[in-house]
Amino acid sequence: SITRKYDAQIAFYNKAIGNRLNEEQQIAAEMRSALQNGEFVVYYQPQYDLKTGTLIGAESLVRWQHPTRGFLPPDTFIPLFEQNGFITQLDIFVWKTVCRQMREWIDQGHRYVPVSINISRVDIYNPHLPEIIMDILNQQKLAPECIHLEITETAYTDNPKQLIATVEKLKAYGLHIDMDDFGSGYSSLNMLSEVPVDTLKLDMRFLQNTQKSSRGGNILFFIMNLAKWLEVSVIAEGIETEAQMLYLGSLGCDYGQGYYFAKPMPYADFQNLLCSQLDRNQCVSVKPTYLGGSNC
Ligand code: C2E
Ligand code: MG
Ligand code: MG
Ligand code: MG
Repeated sequence: SITRKYDAQIAFYNKAIGNRLNEEQQIAAEMRSALQNGEFVVYYQPQYDLKTGTLIGAESLVRWQHPTRGFLPPDTFIPLFEQNGFITQLDIFVWKTVCRQMREWIDQGHRYVPVSINISRVDIYNPHLPEIIMDILNQQKLAPECIHLEITETAYTDNPKQLIATVEKLKAYGLHIDMDDFGSGYSSLNMLSEVPVDTLKLDMRFLQNTQKSSRGGNILFFIMNLAKWLEVSVIAEGIETEAQMLYLGSLGCDYGQGYYFAKPMPYADFQNLLCSQLDRNQCVSVKPTYLGGSNC
């Protein structure tokens, strides 16, 4: 009967929700030991100047090397960690790891590029954020130019006033701010007039939309011109083909990252890449201010 079918459906949903809650509880129970056991790993995805093909930076992206569940991408645990508050510890771990690896690299006498780190929408509202980041940089004797901070555009709607104040403070410390996922939220234009960001990081969907309609292309063209007027640079993410790369270049997009160039990779592979680009003299490094080591 209909009611029996309905009961069965409810039981099915309860079970599905139950499974999910169980899994979330399990992950929450594991996350602290995972951090202690070194299961979180930082990957690096290179970023390029679209005009010259020069390596100009990298984005740090966290992964969870889980002993039984395998290799977990951030989308499977970051939203959960944002809910239960663990994201703050994880992000601090990522920032420390990036700065430590950068310091090791510089101490070995190599040239390096700035690394863009992702700031959770939770952490951006931590009033101590600017000091926490500056402390980590100072501990490793790194200049503020060594890292860029990626703040997702959708965080703007939570509390614009506070976000603007934080970004201004971060910029006063000399940090470079990228607005991540630009165009994915509803706040883009207001946000642009109020938050003094240095770089717009175009959401991947823009690129995908240009392939669907000519309107998509026109909007992209408009954004590139808008960025020029505002004197902010633009980096496109999710470039997967040569055609996309050339198209973005023709619109005046400054920088890009995506599978076409390279997938996110472990630190050792990124080091090798830095070395090989360096040999071909195709690598731009940030100007160190109070750094040790040579800057070749
Ligand atoms: P995001 O910051 O917008 O990062 C871009 C995502 O696009 C990354 O996914 C990257 O691997 C992926 N990607 C790069 N190139 C391509 C491409 O050509 N095609 C396609 N289809 N995808 C590409 P990932 O690593 O899975 O990260 C997902 C999101 O998780 C990130 O989005 C970011 O919001 C968040 N995330 C990653 N690492 C961290 C972290 O350390 N802290 C925080 N708070 N969030 C992080
Ligand atoms: Mg990002
Ligand atoms: Mg992004
Ligand atoms: Mg994105």
